[in-house]
Amino acid sequence: MYLYEMKVTFFSSKPYDKEFFDKANKKFNFELDYFDTHLGPHVLNLIDHSDAVCAFVNDKLNAEVLEALSKKSVKYIALRCAGFNNIDLEAAKHLGIRVCRVPAYSPEAVAEHAMAMILTLNRKTHKAYNRVREQNFALNGLMGFNLYQKTIGVIGTGNIGVAFAKIAKGFGARILAFDIAENQQLKDIGIEYCSLEHLFAESDIISLHCPLIEATHHLINKDSIRKMKKNVMIINTSRGGLIDTKAVIQGLKDHHIGYLGIDVYEQEEKLFFRDLSQTIIEDDTIQRLMSFPNVLVTAHQAFFTAEALEQIANTTLESLYHFEKSNDFENPNAVLI
Ligand code: NAD
Repeated sequence: MYLYEMKVTFFSSKPYDKEFFDKANKKFNFELDYFDTHLGPHVLNLIDHSDAVCAFVNDKLNAEVLEALSKKSVKYIALRCAGFNNIDLEAAKHLGIRVCRVPAYSPEAVAEHAMAMILTLNRKTHKAYNRVREQNFALNGLMGFNLYQKTIGVIGTGNIGVAFAKIAKGFGARILAFDIAENQQLKDIGIEYCSLEHLFAESDIISLHCPLIEATHHLINKDSIRKMKKNVMIINTSRGGLIDTKAVIQGLKDHHIGYLGIDVYEQEEKLFFRDLSQTIIEDDTIQRLMSFPNVLVTAHQAFFTAEALEQIANTTLESLYHFEKSNDFENPNAVLI
């Protein structure tokens, strides 16, 4: 048991975060303070003598927020996620705030969800489930296609892309991959790297697993859609900004895109992770997307397995402990700055 005095303030926290972090904290005995609100300039008064702030995917850590946190003597930011597109790392560096993330918590959790989306869109199990419950045993409209011998394009072959490519390979599909760095392990099992153009042109299904950075912003846009096969299936479990949503809606209306599965959405911070069932949703774009019969939206749940939550909590607290002790990190990729 480590007995180290540290206060960590959580934003966007849910009951399941508290459950897993409280359990992991038995080893550290930090003081953990949980708030369910998003982090932004409007909630900074909630922070009272905190050493660290623990944030999630839709918390905004821009220069203004980081500066205010620094004035409140916050020394560390712990992102309890893999992506780090929501933090201004330059500003954090300038302010001397150290930042960590959880680089590879159960990549299989996200990869398996991507495959679940493919199977649901293809075999329409969500529709079959509802039909049978209403004693409608007809098959009309439920026809799918074999994944066997289809071509699946994987963009980004890091931790999650590798796990996904292996699962897809298990279905007997041909796998094409694009990344700025090729992975020998995938090549050894027969996965072919190719240009983005070739991947767009050849793939029946395209699954996105690259980070959201300037180079990948709106990677799926009007021009790239035009290069894809008619009836292509696009799956995005990475970050909403990889897709130009308006272009994708047009692609669906033109019947160029045959299926779309998204676990992430460009404007998700106003929607995801809460129950809005009694609310009038003002975002017409998501409403339009959800109106298509061949679109499946899940609300950023790809990571959401017990194994992943356990690893997220352990790695996050472990990293904060090492920041404070200034000693070696078990997982150096966890440290961003
Ligand atoms: P990773 O860092 O292990 O892999 C990312 C890969 O993308 C790397 O191989 C990198 O070389 C590649 N890449 C970088 N720039 C590229 C470009 N311009 N074109 C093509 N490839 C490029 O990350 P990961 O753990 O596999 O996670 C991938 C993404 O998944 C994260 O950035 C995160 O946004 C997202 N994610 C989503 C969820 C969820 O719940 N939906 C959970 C975890 C992660």
